[in-house]
Amino acid sequence: MPTGTKNFPVYRKLSDYLKARFGEKVYRVTVDGGFSCPNRDSHDGEAVQPCAFCDERGSAAAHIDANQVVRLQYETGCRKIEEKLGIRKFIPYFQSYTNTYASTKVCVSRYLSVMDEKAVGIAIGTRPDCIADDLLNWLGKLSEEKLVILDLGVQTLTDRVLDMIHRGHDAASSLQVLERLCRYPKIHTCVHLIFGFPTETWNEMMAAVSLFTEHGVKGIKFHQLNILRGTEIAEWYKEGRVSPLELSEYVNIVADFLEQIPPDVVVHRLSARADTHSALIAPDWGWLHLKPTQKIVDELHRRNSFQGKFFGREMSGKGSTGDRLW
Ligand code: SF4
Repeated sequence: MPTGTKNFPVYRKLSDYLKARFGEKVYRVTVDGGFSCPNRDSHDGEAVQPCAFCDERGSAAAHIDANQVVRLQYETGCRKIEEKLGIRKFIPYFQSYTNTYASTKVCVSRYLSVMDEKAVGIAIGTRPDCIADDLLNWLGKLSEEKLVILDLGVQTLTDRVLDMIHRGHDAASSLQVLERLCRYPKIHTCVHLIFGFPTETWNEMMAAVSLFTEHGVKGIKFHQLNILRGTEIAEWYKEGRVSPLELSEYVNIVADFLEQIPPDVVVHRLSARADTHSALIAPDWGWLHLKPTQKIVDELHRRNSFQGKFFGREMSGKGSTGDRLW
């Protein structure tokens, strides 16, 4: 459990959780499984409307060669990490686009292609409205033997914002899939949230705390809104309709959030690093990883605080960022 002194972690890191569970370091190896997503898949030549923040790579890591078959990507990734760091256990991570957007047969065959003896688990990135019952059932069975991480792109629980960014699902869809996931308690659901959407208030961002206090979500990945080239939000930025968070604002929002979620929630990441500096328009700190992470840790120390400090207490006030609307 994290504590608030300089000698102890102030939040529960994924790497610590994995090491405790598997007895040694475990690394995720990102693969592109060749999936599309409902917002980019055109039917009968219909125009598509991607999420306003998403660039054409759909969250793919920059170093991935999507033309390589999944197994080859995985083996190449494992070999590099093993040679460099001596790591022997891995989690293949299907990150790009919506990795449950295909028939269950296709999904399962792609997942199994990387589930070798080195793989202690699997991580699958998807969205709340796109997981078939039989696939969920298969993942539930797999979770009896291996770690199954379902990376769920909730992004926000504010319907006004979900509508504005053309997400294609509402907050109720997120709550519904979490209800279905209750039947599979060994699946480790990791919710992704983005802070800094235009017009979203501190209270609206903090509403997602309930996912961890009331719906049993086990993991969290924090992202700031990065303005990437080629996205609709980049156009809004040019028109002055969106103003990215300052680093100090983001640090305060994440620290506020961490204080309110349970101490055993696993923190997969504290900020979203744009994969390539050239893809990023703003904020100017959006391609950094260590700096935002360190500043959030420093802020928790400064407050003499830690993850879970206010867990179970009623939220009050407007938080560290006041009334500002972005
Ligand atoms: S964020 Fe996900 S669902 Fe939205 S357009 Fe990108 S890949 Fe598709």
